[in-house]
Amino acid sequence: MFQAILIEKDGTDIRAGLSTVGDDRLPAGDVTVRVAYSTLNYKDALAITGKAPVVRSYPMVPGIDFAGVVEHSAHPDYKPGDKVVLNGWGVGEQHWGGLAEKARVNGDWLVPLQSPFTLRQAMAIGTAGYTAMLCVMALERHDVTPGKGEVLVTGAAGGVGSVAVALLSKLGYEVVVVTGRPEEAGYLKVLGAKEVLERKQFQDPGKPLAKERWAGAVDVVGGQILANVCAAMKYRGTVAACGLAGGMSLPTTVAPFILRGVTLAGVDSVMCPRDLRIEAWRRLADDLDPAKLDGLTTEIPLSDVIPTATRLLDGQVRGRVTVAVSPT
Ligand code: NAP
Repeated sequence: MFQAILIEKDGTDIRAGLSTVGDDRLPAGDVTVRVAYSTLNYKDALAITGKAPVVRSYPMVPGIDFAGVVEHSAHPDYKPGDKVVLNGWGVGEQHWGGLAEKARVNGDWLVPLQSPFTLRQAMAIGTAGYTAMLCVMALERHDVTPGKGEVLVTGAAGGVGSVAVALLSKLGYEVVVVTGRPEEAGYLKVLGAKEVLERKQFQDPGKPLAKERWAGAVDVVGGQILANVCAAMKYRGTVAACGLAGGMSLPTTVAPFILRGVTLAGVDSVMCPRDLRIEAWRRLADDLDPAKLDGLTTEIPLSDVIPTATRLLDGQVRGRVTVAVSPT
């Protein structure tokens, strides 16, 4: 038996609760992991609250990521005692996820814990932090180097945003951030932001092309804010777009793309190929300041996950939330 957050559906009623579950209910998979830490990402909060159709089958254990220790393995790459990390692959959406003391998954979805991270640090990074690294790598692929000018991060006080700010500043970029929480300016400056802009400046529809300012951008918000960011990109600038915290729409024009050669680089962490994942985790080990990671992380027990999910969607959670499931 193990403890798990379980989301159940009764007609149109979707309910999440902390339950005790028998091992015989674990899904199919060739590796069973004792989960030490999981996290609360935006997508987990959507799944737990039922606010968006993230979950594809019920009952579902949410949790799109986890870090833990292998208990049983029939996979050639893993043996009992190995420390492993999982991000994405539909886990927590269509396959039982990490917000439980045990998970059983396809071993091909796992990556070994990256040295020198602890299991807790790996989840302080979690899917949000690994996605932030994928965004930084997307900017680099499009030649956005620190010398090219200011780089903007939207939704900066959230999980992806906070890690993106810490990474970009460590890499030497001039980081400007957008937040709806100006009271978090001190926090954002400690992470490495040199200037903090208010979200309301970006919310109204603007012209197809605005004054050129940003050499690069990491956007977690989408919607009108992303459209306005695209309009203010410098010639041949790149926006790494990974999120929809502000909406699914993109009310832009082709002007930034065809007149300024701007690139809109989409970033997906869920089905990201394994070699890129390994590279992102290796880069996180090099480029993320552990003191900053500690400063942006809050830890909660499994029993606090459900109320925290609501607070996260209300924009009241700062940085990253790790869930101590069965810490080692
Ligand atoms: P999070 O911790 O909740 O952060 C989201 C941040 O967005 C909030 O802290 C807030 O930042 C800002 N925000 C919230 N509502 C907003 C609104 N209505 N308008 C404008 N800004 C708003 O979530 P997260 O885990 O960082 O994830 C951020 C986004 O990235 C989510 O949409 C998530 O689904 C997406 N994501 C995508 C991938 C992928 O593979 N593509 C992976 C991970 C996450 P401020 O308070 O600073 O304004």
